[in-house]
Amino acid sequence: MPSIMNPTTNPFIHTQFTKSAMQPTDWPEDQGHEVAFCGRSNAGKSSAINALTGSSKMARTSKQPGRTQLLNFFEPTPGKRLVDLPGYGYAKVAKSMRAQWRAHIDAYLRGRESLSGVVLLADVRLPLQAFDLQLIEWAQNAQVPTRVLLTKADKLSRNQGMQALFRTQRQLPKSMDQVEAQLFSARDATGLDALIEQLLRWLDWDASRSQ
Ligand code: GDP
Repeated sequence: MPSIMNPTTNPFIHTQFTKSAMQPTDWPEDQGHEVAFCGRSNAGKSSAINALTGSSKMARTSKQPGRTQLLNFFEPTPGKRLVDLPGYGYAKVAKSMRAQWRAHIDAYLRGRESLSGVVLLADVRLPLQAFDLQLIEWAQNAQVPTRVLLTKADKLSRNQGMQALFRTQRQLPKSMDQVEAQLFSARDATGLDALIEQLLRWLDWDASRSQ
C-alpha cells in the first residue's frame, strides 16, 4: 500500500494525537473543522483510523481500559481535527452506562459547531443495525453529512461487496439527505482514496497548499 504513505496523496499521515476527554469543557476549542468517527465495537474503527494516518498505533489510546468511553481527538494539521467517538454495542456495558453514552454522543453531535462530517463504520457483512441508523438520524437532525464506511470489504468478492453496498443504500431512508455509503478495507486500502477526498472536503483543507 505504498500510496497511502505518501504525504502528497495522503496528508493524514502527519496526524498527531491531541487528547482524550469526556466532558465538553475538556474538549478542544470548538473552532475550525472536525470530523467524527463512530461505530459499533469491532466494526473496524481503529483499523480505519490507523490506515488513514499510516500509523499502526494512532487509535490505540482509544482502546486502553478506562478510555473506551472517552472522545479521542487527533489533529492532522492545526485547526483540523478527527475525533474517535467511543464504540457502542458492548453487550456487557450496563444499561445506565449506555444511556449516559447516548446522552454524550447526542450532545456532541448536536452541540459541536465545528463538526463538519460523521464517518460511521459498519461491517460490510452485516446490515446496518438499529443504533447505526439512530446515529445517522441524529447526525441528520444536526444537519451534519454522513459517510457510511462498509468495512472489511476484503472479506467479500467484488460482486458481493457491490450487493452489500446496494443493500445499505436501500436501508437509508429516501428522506435522508447528505448520507453516502462506500466500501472500505483497512487491510487492502479499498476506498481509502475516496475517504481521504471526502475528509479533505469536510475539513475545508487544501492539503496541497499546506505541504
Ligand atoms: P474497532 O473496535 O471498531 O476499533 O475495530 P478494530 O479496528 O479493532 O477491528 C476489529 C477486528 O476486525 C480486528 O480483528 C481487526 O483486525 C479486524 N479488521 C478491521 N478492519 C479490517 C479490514 O479492513 N479487513 C479485515 N479482514 N479485518 C479487519
